[in-house]
Amino acid sequence: MALDVQKIRQDFPILKELVHGKPLVYLDNAATSQRPVQVLKEIEDAYLKYNSNIHRGVHHLSQKATEAHENSREVIREFINAKSTKEIIFTRGTTESINLIAWSFGERFCEKGDEIIISAMEHHSNIVPWQMLCERKELKLKVIPFDDSGTLDMDAFQNLISPKTKLVSVAHVSNTLGTVNPIEKIISIAHENNIKVLIDGAQSAPHFKLDMQALNADFFVFSSHKMYGPTGMGVLYGKEDLLNELPPYQGGGEMIETVTFEKTTYNELPFKFEAGTPDFTGSVGFAAGIKYIETLGIDSIHAYEDELLKYATEQLKSIPGLKIYGEAEMKSSVISFMVNGIHPFDMGTLLDQMGIAVRTGHHCAQPVMDRFGISGTVRASFAIYNTKEEVDTLLNGINRIAAMF
Ligand code: PLP
Repeated sequence: MALDVQKIRQDFPILKELVHGKPLVYLDNAATSQRPVQVLKEIEDAYLKYNSNIHRGVHHLSQKATEAHENSREVIREFINAKSTKEIIFTRGTTESINLIAWSFGERFCEKGDEIIISAMEHHSNIVPWQMLCERKELKLKVIPFDDSGTLDMDAFQNLISPKTKLVSVAHVSNTLGTVNPIEKIISIAHENNIKVLIDGAQSAPHFKLDMQALNADFFVFSSHKMYGPTGMGVLYGKEDLLNELPPYQGGGEMIETVTFEKTTYNELPFKFEAGTPDFTGSVGFAAGIKYIETLGIDSIHAYEDELLKYATEQLKSIPGLKIYGEAEMKSSVISFMVNGIHPFDMGTLLDQMGIAVRTGHHCAQPVMDRFGISGTVRASFAIYNTKEEVDTLLNGINRIAAMF
């Protein structure tokens, strides 16, 4: 179904804002998307109509809030086709989800000398928690390289695997290069070698149809704020059997079954991993973001954004001296570039003066910059409300700035 993007834009009041007197062109969606009124309304209703601490109250509001929180979990389960809501753990986002697994999986399954594999195009959130684990448990971190186009070297991946490898953790989509990694292949190779796999879906969940049962990843993590939902909310999907084997990451709140000074026993999934008062307005907003996506249809979103990416890539390539970083065959919604050596910060600042929001710098992926021998790039990233006219505005902006230098 073709989407009515002008109608969709009406759902996002922020898009009517002027920035430095110019209409906002928001192209920083890989960092965070904007929120539609439908999501804000659900969050407002939660606070105005049934705000209460969940799980612990017999009173009406608490029961209503608990129901809303657990219904949100079901909405997310269905969206990613997980087998059970026990496999949907609410976290503060992708980063916390990865830290949880790095700690709990490391605690349960890793011993001195074991190995973890990541790729060279990971976000820092999928590097640092593993480095911390490696330091804590004396493990070795191995890194899959990528080529000049931003494509992972799958032969190198196979060669990195050893009997000591315990887990592979890679991004589904690179936030810097836009590469869509062959995660199905990575998962099947890892499983053949009895290795568990975590997929960082922060940049794929907003754009792709996901099916956990078909994909067969052991863990899959993503954030609400990149999916039209609130900040500070995310999900860790994990296979039930595996999550049952892991120790809890934090203590307190609803994660307990019984507590005495001698011994504490833990609650069942998913609560075992949800210490403290859960962010129920966050979960309600997250589910509202997902419902928003579902109303438009994830396949239609994907097709539209793909068209936009192809158009933007073609247009940008027409600019003399513009180099795109990341030209893998399979890409999604992100274009990183530099123009004639103009510092990305200067380019970003001048584009901002024209009302155009792009991200500049290393995009929390410094090793990617090191790989190319640069300090940063300019990154434009797209969401469902962006248009070809906005791409044209970006193009004009870059051309004007290039002419100045
Ligand atoms: N992984 C990837 C690929 C990302 O793009 C991001 C955020 O940009 C993260 C992890 C971290 O997500 P969050 O800050 O929501 O935890």
